[in-house]
Amino acid sequence: MPAGQLLVRCNNRRTTRCAACAEVYRRDTFQLITSGLRGGKGVPEQVGTHPRVFATLTAPSFGPVHNRPTGPAGTVRPCRCGVRHDQNAPALGTPLDPDTYDYDAAVLWNAHAGPLWQRFSIYLRREVAKRAGLSQRRFRQHARVSFAKVAEYQKRGAVHFHAVIRLDGPGGGDTPPPPWATAELLTDAIRAAAAKVRVDGPVIDGRAHTFTFGRQLDVRTIRSADFNGGQEVTERAVASYIAKYATKGAETATGALDRPLKFVAELARLDISDHARRMIRTAWALGARKDLEHLRLRAWAHMLGFRGHFSTKSRRYSTTLGALRDARAEWRRAQAAAAAPERESEDTTYVLAHWVFAGTGLSDAEAWLAASLEPAPGTEGEPFHA
Ligand SMILES: [Zn+2]
Ligand SMILES: [Zn+2]
Repeated sequence: MPAGQLLVRCNNRRTTRCAACAEVYRRDTFQLITSGLRGGKGVPEQVGTHPRVFATLTAPSFGPVHNRPTGPAGTVRPCRCGVRHDQNAPALGTPLDPDTYDYDAAVLWNAHAGPLWQRFSIYLRREVAKRAGLSQRRFRQHARVSFAKVAEYQKRGAVHFHAVIRLDGPGGGDTPPPPWATAELLTDAIRAAAAKVRVDGPVIDGRAHTFTFGRQLDVRTIRSADFNGGQEVTERAVASYIAKYATKGAETATGALDRPLKFVAELARLDISDHARRMIRTAWALGARKDLEHLRLRAWAHMLGFRGHFSTKSRRYSTTLGALRDARAEWRRAQAAAAAPERESEDTTYVLAHWVFAGTGLSDAEAWLAASLEPAPGTEGEPFHA
């Protein structure tokens, strides 16, 4: 580039930050989840015959919230406040009584959701082994539990997890599962593990916090065919769902706030709900405590306390995002080489080893250029990206 700078993708996964990069991330995640469900990208097709389910694990209640209960035939019943809320009512998910809502526990639960999942995955292996009549050690010689999960924010600001959980043979997706491995056994083990798992938290003002999953637990068998009998979900639906949430942050609860706060005073200028504001203030206040330093609640206040990875997978689930990116880069190189074959024969390679980060976004001149190139209002245009 003329200024001695090279523009590269920002690779931000969040739609609110960079629509173009988030779209690539969403499609990569879709491929990653799909290859663990029906094979491809180095995973054999037989993986599609392994027992697998789609599970949603939720947070417990921190106090009653406005909701939209449905009765028979989809009729909407009134909320506890007496109102029949509209589907998009801003009040949905916010506390009926903010003064009695347990904000401390709500923020701390998010902060412990990662460790809670971690422990759940250990318990799950135990529960599966128990149902197969195997010891922990023997279990590893017979089967393996693989998963890919994504975190999603509910309107009330609590994180919940959606996960593909699969039972494989001892070598992962490449090896057939043992005969006892069924979706029913897996479902039963998930229910037992989710009900048992707990993580001890801090003692705050004389109150000992303990974290568990909520009673609402949804486990559905994933089917290969593109039909949906109500209780079962399809591979495609599951992959789309996880990929969509992989590009989101806490926006469901906080609106446009998608980056860390430097000062709590910034909150006053933000157009967010009172509930989100209170969650963030709580995170900020708890973040001042020495005994909670390890939770880094101020750095993660904009995420309402959750500092875990948004999407994670176990090692043997399928391919990796890195492998998908490498394959794409390789393909582009091959395309470029085909377009300009003489460059292949160059025998000198320049190595520029001193790269320095110059900044994010556009310079003033680039911003002016971008604005002048913007399509007229009403015409379709690609989102601008640098
Ligand atoms: Zn970008
Ligand atoms: Zn209500």
